[in-house]
Amino acid sequence: MDLLERYSEIAGREVVDHLRQLSSQLKGMRVVHVNSTRQGGGVAELLAKIVPMMNALGIDTSWEVIEGTPSFFECTKGFHNAIQGNTVVLSDEAFQEYLRVNAQNAGKLRDKLRDADFVFIHDPQPAALLENIADRRGKWVWRCHIDCSRPYRPVWKFLRRIVCDYDASIFSTAQFVQPLPHPQYIIAPSIDPLSEKNMELPKDEVEGVRERFGLDPDLPIILQVSRYDRFKDPLGVIAAYRIARKIVPMQLVLAGGGASDDPEGEIVLKEVQKAAEGDPYIHVLVLPPDAHRIINALQRAADIVLQKSIREGFGLTVTEAMWKSKPVIGGDTGGIRLQVIDHYTGFRVRSPEGAALRIRYLLHNQEKRMEMGQRAKRFVRENFLLTRHLREYLALMIAIFHGLEDRIDLTRP
Ligand code: UDP
Repeated sequence: MDLLERYSEIAGREVVDHLRQLSSQLKGMRVVHVNSTRQGGGVAELLAKIVPMMNALGIDTSWEVIEGTPSFFECTKGFHNAIQGNTVVLSDEAFQEYLRVNAQNAGKLRDKLRDADFVFIHDPQPAALLENIADRRGKWVWRCHIDCSRPYRPVWKFLRRIVCDYDASIFSTAQFVQPLPHPQYIIAPSIDPLSEKNMELPKDEVEGVRERFGLDPDLPIILQVSRYDRFKDPLGVIAAYRIARKIVPMQLVLAGGGASDDPEGEIVLKEVQKAAEGDPYIHVLVLPPDAHRIINALQRAADIVLQKSIREGFGLTVTEAMWKSKPVIGGDTGGIRLQVIDHYTGFRVRSPEGAALRIRYLLHNQEKRMEMGQRAKRFVRENFLLTRHLREYLALMIAIFHGLEDRIDLTRP
């Protein structure tokens, strides 16, 4: 069965027909997506699914990954932290390294980028490619995946100057939009229901993963899946678990790995391991970047999934858990607010104490847990599947391509 047909079984035939109709306007066009890591983190996860789907729709789409030096990634991690609101003072050398690495990558990708009809640049890392391709032919769109609702101004000022030259930008929620001199679009990310991360799994595979990591079959599982990053607040998760465990027995699983563009992961992991030391009911797992089925199984084995972030662009881990009918206790921030509808698909919390209260409530109320989990799955089916995401990308490309035309006839061959 062709790739698109498989989606019609989950999302419905009309959804797939609509994708075909939209893409007929873009057939043969060349699209390039650029980011800074092939594996690890939500952007890589998304591109691995969006790119083959766009090709299946007849759009010639490729995915390029820029290469950088350790000091480049230190600088862009600083950008990431600053855009999400931390005070981060970067040296002139750091800014120069950022520009130098972008110019170097632009040299390597020049022909491809110049000739593409659309270039999607994901996040700040490759944003300065644009100023190095002066003779570009196509439209360039900056896709910002992080929470830039309250950026640290000096860093945003530097980045804004670069981003201003784009033809459009995309943010995940309306709260993140910044004043920019071009059209801005809101597109929420999505999950691929057919991927190894999200497909149904046999029960014994889920049991196998439970055994493999030495999880107690008689204790409820509280899970957070995340890169080891302070914005994900793993220490807050441990604090919440400690409060809740005084009253209800349970075990906590923190599962994560690194991303090649994230140099802080090792340090945060050490902090987490130290905080968990001596507690046999806390399992800190370090997983390889391709452990999709294991994460899938852990999410299915869990009774409650946490994503206690203090900043979050979107939080694909939330969507993934909801798709597996799990209620999510999520930090009251960014893209989590789009997904965790308080008291309906889960709970939004602002402190370890708040999270502990909700953990206890859900563990005591199995029926409520199931009910919220079912609603969570339905909510994802209606809003956060790959097919909806792709439809919005295609519509945006058509709108940008047709520029000022106020009416676009989709029936035109
Ligand atoms: N992920 C993974 N392995 C890990 C940690 C995370 O495969 O060890 C995946 C996770 O399942 C999700 C993505 O990476 O698909 C993380 O995306 P999210 O939007 O939650 O956060 P980001 O890392 O982009 O901030």
